[in-house]
Amino acid sequence: MKIEQATRHRPVFYIVSSLLAIGAILWAESQMWTCVNDLRRRAEILSSEVFHLADPLEARIRALNDDVSRYAIQVTPGLKQGILAETEATLRFLKKHREDAMLPSHRDLLTQMGDLLNQYLRHAGALLDSASAPADLEIWRREKERILAQILARTAELGRAEKLGLEDYMEGTHQSVTDLHRKLVLSSLILLSMGAALGYLAYRGLIVPLQFRLRQSQRVIERQEKLSSLGVLAAGVAHEIRNPLTSIKARLFTQQDLLARPSEALEDNVFITEEISRLEKIVADFLSFARPSEPEKVLIRASQPLRDVGELLRASLARVNIELRTEILADPRVHADPDQLKQVLINLVRNAAESIEHDGIIHLRTRIQSRRSSTRSGASVLIEVEDSGKGIAPEDQKRLFDPFFTTKASGTGLGLSIAARILEKHGGTLEYHGGTPHGTQFTLVLPIASNES
Ligand code: ADP
Repeated sequence: MKIEQATRHRPVFYIVSSLLAIGAILWAESQMWTCVNDLRRRAEILSSEVFHLADPLEARIRALNDDVSRYAIQVTPGLKQGILAETEATLRFLKKHREDAMLPSHRDLLTQMGDLLNQYLRHAGALLDSASAPADLEIWRREKERILAQILARTAELGRAEKLGLEDYMEGTHQSVTDLHRKLVLSSLILLSMGAALGYLAYRGLIVPLQFRLRQSQRVIERQEKLSSLGVLAAGVAHEIRNPLTSIKARLFTQQDLLARPSEALEDNVFITEEISRLEKIVADFLSFARPSEPEKVLIRASQPLRDVGELLRASLARVNIELRTEILADPRVHADPDQLKQVLINLVRNAAESIEHDGIIHLRTRIQSRRSSTRSGASVLIEVEDSGKGIAPEDQKRLFDPFFTTKASGTGLGLSIAARILEKHGGTLEYHGGTPHGTQFTLVLPIASNES
């Protein structure tokens, strides 16, 4: 029962577990991609000019200054064009890198250098523009060198700031690599544990129940093999025993008329006759177990065998203060052998009465079960026999349907096996439900006739 319930909920359980596992994998993937992208961006920045501006800038400014100095010695129109073009290019270079600067300190230095370079150009402009040529070339040159020294001082400062920035940046990159490494280890651990958990769940959810079912079917097959060989043997022996028993019984009856009454000999005769009757019942049980007759099925109401058994046994049960209550909650038609169903019900009611002994209730109930069971689809009718007796010990419950299992001194242990077999021949089952607060419940599950549902 529990296994079937678990089997029903299993697909939902697997879908949820798989979704969780997929979620965890996607999360780990996204974390690693973030780290990898960060590292790629850092590598791009490191290979770009962001941290290597000072040296090329200094080289450019020195070359420009050399050109201006040469122009001061000898005015050359081509050189003037070169100076103007180089100035433009240097200013553009400064502007671009000022906008791209990663650190505020770098941006400040580049702004200051731009201002000083403009100042330098204004000063050089006096030389380039013949209309405003400086009066004293020596004073002009000293001023130019002063501004240049200021620009170069900022370039040197930028060089130092770039070195520090680069070190910081390398530190950050190192941290990112450590992070990535940590996340890789963590996600590998998560994936490994999810894999192990899923493996374990698959083992518990699929393999264990399959093993359980396999063991169950093996037990059933073994039991059936044992039963069939036992059945052949039992049938042979029972057949041989039945004839002499009948002859003995007949002789005992004849003898009864000849014996004085009352007499000890008559008492012995009656005792032997009763024991012979018991033996006959055992033999009859053996035979119907070993060679069950095919049911002669007709279309009957499910309540019919129940009412017949009620009429048959109600009076005798009342003598020991056992009430037999019938509840017809549904009354569909079934294809069944009414005598065989009666035989099953009489056996169940007798067991119930033996369990109660005296003062109790036996419920006979019919109702409909519409759920699809694991072995059969479509609606079934349930015929329940519920008693208020002693119940069945847990260790006996597993063996109830084993042939010859009995807890009674005079029992054959065949009643339930025969009943189960009869139900099987009707395409149904006989189920035992323990766990009622007191007593026991057996249920006959029978398919409803197809034109009924
Ligand atoms: P028998 O009645 O000959 O023992 P059964 O196959 O009918 O054989 O029953 C097997 C055993 O199941 C009984 O001996 C008894 O222990 C137990 N049993 C069956 N029905 C009931 C019941 N209603 N209450 C308690 N025990 C029961």
